[in-house]
Amino acid sequence: SEERSLNFIEQIVEEDIANGVNDGRVLTRFPPEPNGYLHIGHAKSIALNFGLAQKYNGKTNLRFDDTNPVTEDTEYVESIKEDIRWLGFEWEKELYASDYFEQLYAFAVKLIEKGLAYVEDASADEIAAAKGTPTVPGTPTPARSRTVAENLDLFDRMRKGEFKDGEKTLRAKADLASPNMHMRDPLMYRIKHAHHHRTGDKWCIYPMYDFAHGQSDSIEHITHSICTLEFIPHRALYDWFIKELDIFPSHQYEFARLNLTYTVMSKRKLKQLVEEGHVNGWDDPRMPTISGLRRRGYTPASIRQLCERVGVQKRDNMIELSLLEFCIREELNRTANRVMAVLDPVKLVITNYPEGQVEEMTADNNPEDENAGSRTLHFSNTLYIEREDFMENPPKKFFRLGPGNMVRLKNAYIIKGESFDKDADGNITTIYATYLPESKSGGDQSGLTVKGTIHWVSAEHAATAEVRIYDRLFTAENPQAEEADFTTFINPDSLQVIKEAFVEPGLLQAKPGERFQFLRKGYFVVDADSTADKVVFNRTVTLKDAWAK
Ligand code: ATP
Ligand code: MG
Ligand code: MG
Repeated sequence: SEERSLNFIEQIVEEDIANGVNDGRVLTRFPPEPNGYLHIGHAKSIALNFGLAQKYNGKTNLRFDDTNPVTEDTEYVESIKEDIRWLGFEWEKELYASDYFEQLYAFAVKLIEKGLAYVEDASADEIAAAKGTPTVPGTPTPARSRTVAENLDLFDRMRKGEFKDGEKTLRAKADLASPNMHMRDPLMYRIKHAHHHRTGDKWCIYPMYDFAHGQSDSIEHITHSICTLEFIPHRALYDWFIKELDIFPSHQYEFARLNLTYTVMSKRKLKQLVEEGHVNGWDDPRMPTISGLRRRGYTPASIRQLCERVGVQKRDNMIELSLLEFCIREELNRTANRVMAVLDPVKLVITNYPEGQVEEMTADNNPEDENAGSRTLHFSNTLYIEREDFMENPPKKFFRLGPGNMVRLKNAYIIKGESFDKDADGNITTIYATYLPESKSGGDQSGLTVKGTIHWVSAEHAATAEVRIYDRLFTAENPQAEEADFTTFINPDSLQVIKEAFVEPGLLQAKPGERFQFLRKGYFVVDADSTADKVVFNRTVTLKDAWAK
């Protein structure tokens, strides 16, 4: 990763450093609104902001952009901090835009005094109607000609709570003829008689994003304020406020947001999925939230790796969900211990193996890691194997088990299928096989080569596990771009629960968050729902890309 070329934001930062801008100081910020849990799109912004600071010997503030009392909550503040730390980043200062309310109010007063802000009586609809169109200039409302004294008095009374929600607003007196609609006297303050999660009932007027964000950046002396492309038209206003207030000149830069296929990426939509019960909470393993990905078994490194591979773009684009899967697969292939787990079990009896005998087999934990060690497996005459690994009438290329077919049991013996029992419905209940005593793994004297190797667990020794298999949450590649509501594209089969899988008994000791490769089946993580006698696993990802074209 050291070899990749600089992204355009790094180029800007390097130029600034070279030119001595801000004495070469780099201070970025990550500014979440605490109105939901962070998603992987936020991880992109976190990796970029914190990554720049790390690379250029700078720092990053965590600033909660908590200017809308109605949607924000302390629960979200806590989850956001946990997720950033889990991703591997530590902020310089923990700050809140709401801590600046008094300062922002003073800034607004200063603009009123300069004749650059006025109290508006018109409703939102009337303001919109008078704003004109990109080609037709806006027309002033009567309030625009208020005197400074009148505006100061009215703004003070707004603060004191003399007006109802929507009755008045504070607008910047900028440029009603600007081709940039955001410059046409944008709102600075609105009245909201609502309880704020930090300031309580102290305020009933709240600054708009455009009047809070840049000013907060400036108060903190942020050098590079990085946001997503939709804020490009806001930049002129960002600069205008800073210039007219004559405060520290932070600068805004924009990059393309991260979009992933088969996902929605907006806190509001994710909240809807939770509240309408489409998923089991913000940390449901199908959610693109950081907490959901964590529970799904993703590692911080795999998420950072995705961000690195995606890079920093100036144009919006759509990233394949399979790239994220690739990142975790690649990591877990190196790091996850291999175990045997039978997800759809059928009983296999080895008729020539002495009943009651138990043999200890040795298995490497991870062929990709010579330090991973080995473990002991118990072998007996009654095992569980995958139902799909046996066929009653196997076709020629079926290299697994069938009557007369030979297969190797991983880390054990070659066996040969003999017969089977069926129940009244025609389902196979027991498979019978014989083993070749001289074919033991590690000391095979049989001289035979068999094409297939299958996994197994000893029935007497196996532990029971619940296994949760996830598929993508949406059936549409870009559910938010479709005409219909995005919830109509929810995949009805996104969760499959296997209540009784059999796994190596050692897995009973595994702790929530531990990750394994189930041989031939994929990568799995222990879920927090596990109990002392039942482990619950989430499938993180399959071994191969099931969607590869
Ligand atoms: P959402 O609509 O999901 O709530 P947001 O932008 O309103 O997103 P914020 O809490 O304001 O959420 O975001 C904090 C930071 O994360 C902002 O700087 C924002 O630009 C950035 N961010 C949000 N979504 C993405 C994304 N998909 N890709 C990259 N950055 C993002
Ligand atoms: Mg936002
Ligand atoms: Mg938002």
